[in-house]
Order: sequence, then C-alpha cells, then structure tokens
Amino acid sequence: MRPPYSRRRSLTPMFDPELTEEEQIKKMVTPRIVQRRNSKDSEEVVLEMFEKICPFGCENDVVIYTTTLRGIRKTFEDCNIARSIIESHHVQMIERDISMHSGFKEELRSLMGAKNVKVPLVFVKGRLIGGADELVKLEEENKLELLFDGIPKAVSACEGCVGIRFIMCMDCNGSSKVLGSDGRRSIKCGECNENGLIQCPICC
Ligand SMILES: [Zn+2]
Ligand SMILES: [Zn+2]
Repeated sequence: MRPPYSRRRSLTPMFDPELTEEEQIKKMVTPRIVQRRNSKDSEEVVLEMFEKICPFGCENDVVIYTTTLRGIRKTFEDCNIARSIIESHHVQMIERDISMHSGFKEELRSLMGAKNVKVPLVFVKGRLIGGADELVKLEEENKLELLFDGIPKAVSACEGCVGIRFIMCMDCNGSSKVLGSDGRRSIKCGECNENGLIQCPICC
C-alpha cells in the first residue's frame, strides 16, 4: 500500500501540504545558495560601497577603534554594540581602545583627517565601514558576513593580558615615572604610555 501522502500529492499537487512545505524550504534555502555562489562578487560589491581608508598594515583585518570610558553613555554603549556584533561572527578583530592609549587616538585623527573623531569606528579590509548604526544596518542586510569573508576565526583571549592588549609597565610599575640619571628627580618613563601601560608583548 502506498503511503497516504504520495497519493494526495499525485491527486492534487497544488494543495498538497507537503508541497507547500517544500516550497517554503526552497524559498528559505535558495537565497543562501545564490549568495554563496556569488559570494566573491558580492563581497567586492559590498566593499566598493565604502571609502578606502586603511589603518597602517591592516589591509586584510577587521579593526575597531573604541573607548572603555563611560563618560558619554551613548558612545560607550555604541562601542559595546559594535564590538558584540563583530564578536558574534567569531572573526579576529583588532581593537584599539583610544582611552587606553592616546597613540590610537592620534592614529585615528590622522586616518580621518580630523581633530574630532568619534568612536566606535570600524575598518574592514582597508575600508571605512562606520560606527554602530552602520554595523547594525549591514547585519540586518546580511552584508556583514560577506565583508568578513576570509577573515581568520577569532582565537581565545591572550594569557598575558586576558584580552586587554595592554599590561602594566615593568620599568615604572605603572606610574609612568622613573628616576632620572641624577638619581633624585623623576622623569617620564620612556617605555610606557601616559597611563603607565605597554602593549602586550605576547599578543600585540
Ligand atoms: Zn613605564
Ligand atoms: Zn596579550
């Protein structure tokens, strides 16, 4: 005896609930297949939408400039949104926290050609993508996945700095001051930044 569904299908295929489900599945699956097939083209097309501005040496990377200062609530929250969207794709990301290191702020100023820069700002493969709003929009349009195509997968946090990318300076114990050659007056430590931090020697 034939199973009941196949008889139903042969009789009235238009109204067969099995077929409807099939159509639904096809509808769900087809755009993904098309997207994958054209991923190379689409990635280029999406990249072309953005201006070529590249943090030095980061032509193939995802770079995000952020702050961990809570001074301006919206800025702080936007940084968290942007960071977590990128993290949800499990791709390697270079985070440059401008509140940890003024050198990053200077770098961003010269990249943007402006004195006033706002974070977060995200660069992917040498293009300026934008801030949290742009990332949310790209995510909704499923374009972020294309932009991240070929970016290596994220690895777990560094043992040296637990992912903060900075450690306290050993020369001055984080005070950013050391004794001068006269042995009495303290001078600025030459090894660390204004916060007594050095970039993690293990992961940076
Ligand atoms: Zn120091
Ligand atoms: Zn580290």
